[in-house]
Amino acid sequence: MARISSMPKGQIIDSHAHLTWDSFAEDQQEVIERAFAEGVVQIVQAGVDLKTIPEMVTLTETYREIFIGVGLHPHDAKLWNDEADSTIRQAAEHPKVVAIGECGLDFYYNHSDRDEQLACFKAQIEIARDLNKPLIIHSRDAWEDTFQLLEEVGGGKVRGVFHCFTGGPEVLPRIEALDFYVSFSGIVTFASAKNIQAAAPLVKADRILVETDCPYLAPQPMRGKRNEPSYVWYVAEKLAQLRGSDLKQIAETTVANARRLFDLPRVD
Ligand SMILES: [Zn+2]
Repeated sequence: MARISSMPKGQIIDSHAHLTWDSFAEDQQEVIERAFAEGVVQIVQAGVDLKTIPEMVTLTETYREIFIGVGLHPHDAKLWNDEADSTIRQAAEHPKVVAIGECGLDFYYNHSDRDEQLACFKAQIEIARDLNKPLIIHSRDAWEDTFQLLEEVGGGKVRGVFHCFTGGPEVLPRIEALDFYVSFSGIVTFASAKNIQAAAPLVKADRILVETDCPYLAPQPMRGKRNEPSYVWYVAEKLAQLRGSDLKQIAETTVANARRLFDLPRVD
């Protein structure tokens, strides 16, 4: 696999990052500048809690290339209440808030009860529907419930992305029926991720995104290190290989898709 610096340069978007987390406390600015230097033209930072919304908003005001989602992660679904609901609705009025989430269901870790997770997710689908913002979905070991809630509550009136896709070809028809996007993270570069790799060529070209989910999940050949937005190129390179495409094409396609989904401005 090529070093990023030797890859043919173009523009790319990291559709899911967490730049305000502690892992970047020392060198956030350097990480962001390195991303820009490597052709990452826009970054969407996903929200997981409500207390860091002001910090995320400040980040978007510092960098015109950075946008955010606001939402409550399923791990913390037990904290959901009416106040959380109005905090998210209010925060979403900021022009740099381009999505609701990440939100969803995680029945692998079950850090919150299933019922709490279902209620928290349902409420955020309603917010996305009411405000006409896309959803950033975290779904782990919970496909059926995720699809059911999106179908029932979203009713074809919400759009969004399955971030850090960990499914296989078998779930793609339901995602296509919802007309949602599928975002691949560094996991797709792992040798063990056969099912995800099998799905990669089957996602429609106008519904595919790339992300880092940094600081987690650094792609090969950086696996095990702290992840950062510039590494999104490795994800795109793997997708190009799996889809029989080239890197430039994947970059252009995923930039266009991210802009369409999140309504991001063009930059030249
Ligand atoms: Zn995330």
